[in-house]
Amino acid sequence: MNDLQTRHGYWQQRTFGDSLTDQGLINHMKREILEIEQADRVEKVEEECADLLLLLLGFAHKKGFSLATAAEEKFRKVQQRRWKEPDGEGVIEHVRSHSEEYYKSLYGGKS
Ligand SMILES: [Mg+2]
Repeated sequence: MNDLQTRHGYWQQRTFGDSLTDQGLINHMKREILEIEQADRVEKVEEECADLLLLLLGFAHKKGFSLATAAEEKFRKVQQRRWKEPDGEGVIEHVRSHSEEYYKSLYGGKS
């Protein structure tokens, strides 16, 4: 995945230059998530997921970190967690300590 990130990152730099902003990439990712949600066949889901991954890789390249390394590190943490029941939207969040719950209530819960 690091090789793909590097190739895509330099391609987007050459192709879009300074027109490509962090917020522009984030807005584009939001559109791709909607496209995944609205995809009506598996080939379309596959294509839209690939769009989203490429945008994420491009974002990571622009920010200067390896998405593969970050994902490996996060996956190690995720495997150690305990999980709640799905909420009303079907989202399964992890169980937080009291201090994490307090932090989430103050800052919106980045974890
Ligand atoms: Mg798309």
